[in-house]
Amino acid sequence: MKINENFLKIQSSYLFSNIAKKVNAYVAANPDKPIIRLGIGDVTRPLADECITAMHKAVDHMADEKTFMGYPPEYGHSWLITAINENDYKSRGVELDNSEIFVSDGAKSDCGNIGDIFSLDNRVAVCDPVYPVYVDTNVMMGRSKDMLYMPCTAENGFLPQIPTEKADIIYLCFPNNPTGMAITKDELKKWVDYANANGSVILFDSAYEAFITEDNVPHSIYEIEGAKTCAIEFRSFSKTAGFTGVRCGYTVVPHDLKVDGVELNALWARRQATKFNGVSYITQRAAAACYTDAGKQQIRDTIAYYQKNAKVIYDGLKSCGFTVYGAVNSPYVWLKTPDGMKSWDFFDLLLENIQVVGTPGEGFGPSGEGYFRLTSFGSAENTAKAVERIKNYFGK
Ligand code: PLP
Repeated sequence: MKINENFLKIQSSYLFSNIAKKVNAYVAANPDKPIIRLGIGDVTRPLADECITAMHKAVDHMADEKTFMGYPPEYGHSWLITAINENDYKSRGVELDNSEIFVSDGAKSDCGNIGDIFSLDNRVAVCDPVYPVYVDTNVMMGRSKDMLYMPCTAENGFLPQIPTEKADIIYLCFPNNPTGMAITKDELKKWVDYANANGSVILFDSAYEAFITEDNVPHSIYEIEGAKTCAIEFRSFSKTAGFTGVRCGYTVVPHDLKVDGVELNALWARRQATKFNGVSYITQRAAAACYTDAGKQQIRDTIAYYQKNAKVIYDGLKSCGFTVYGAVNSPYVWLKTPDGMKSWDFFDLLLENIQVVGTPGEGFGPSGEGYFRLTSFGSAENTAKAVERIKNYFGK
C-alpha cells in the first residue's frame, strides 16, 4: 500500500491559518480592541431576492411528486445553460453551442479538476503571485515538469510576460486575485496568439468578471479572436451573485479546441459524467434567477455595494500616500507596503496599531512580497471605519 506522495510535496497552506493564529492571539490578549477584517475573500451580502424566491419555489417542487427532481442532468439543466449562453456570451457577441457549457459546483473544483484531461508530461505556467489552487492541484497530480512562474509586479504592470520557453498549460486569471488588476483585449490577444502558435491551452479564470468597469477589458476570453481554438474558461456565481455558500459555476470548453485532433470538450464531458453528479436543482434554479431582469438588477446593486467599498479603500489609501493598484475592475485592492516593508511585518503593524486585518502578498507567491491585499467584501460601515483608522495612523 502506497499513498500518493505528491500530497507530501504540497507546501502546507500556512497563509490563512497563519493569519487566523495571529489574529486569535491578538484578540485573546486585547479583548477590548475590536478587529476589522479586510482580508476575507468571502462575500458578506445576502443572496438576491430573486434567487431566494426561486429557491423557495424549487423546494416546493421537490416536495411534490409531480414536480420532484432526482439526479440533475450531468452538465446542467438546459434552461440554465441557455440563460448563461444568452446573457453571458451571446449578448457580448460570442456564439457558443449549449454543449460547450458545463454547469458545476464552482470554479475552484473545475480549475482543480481540469488537470485530469491533460498528460502529466505538460509544462504548466502560472502567474506569481497566484491563486494557490492552480499550483497545488498540479503538484497533487504529479505533473512532472518544473512549473514556470511568471512574475507580476508593478514593473510589468502586473501582467505576465509571454514566456520565452514553451508553456503547455497556461493559467490566466483576470481580473486577478490577488492583485485586482485586469487585462485589456489587446494584451489578452497576445496570449491567444502565443497559445495558438505553440499548441498551448489557456485556462482562463474569469471568476471576477462581474467587477469589470472598463470597456477595453474583456469579460470573456472568447471576445478575443482565435480564443476558441486555445482556451477553456471558468466562471462562477460566487462573487457575481454571492453564491460562495450555495455553490454554482460553469466551465466553457469549445468544440474547436483540439489537441492532436482530439476535442477537449469530449474529454471534459467524460470526466464530469464519471466523477461529478451534477448541481442540485434548487441551486440551479437560484442561478437561473440571476438572469431575470429583477435578478440582474439586484446582483448589479450588490456588486455596486462592493465596488463602492473598493473605491473607499483605494481613495483612502491614496490620500495617505500609498501606492495602490486594483479596485477599478476588481473587489481587491493591492497596495505597496510603505518603505519596502515585508508584507508580514506590515500585517503585524496594522494588526497591532489599528486592528485592521489584511492579507500579506507574500502568501500568494514570492513576487507578492512587499505588497498587501485588502478586500471590499466587508460591510460598508466596517470598511469606512477601517479606512478612518488607516488615515488616522498613516495620514500626514
Ligand atoms: N478562482 C479564483 C481566482 C478565486 O479567487 C476563487 C475564490 O476565491 C475561485 C476561483 C473559487 O470560486 P468558487 O467559489 O466558484 O469555487
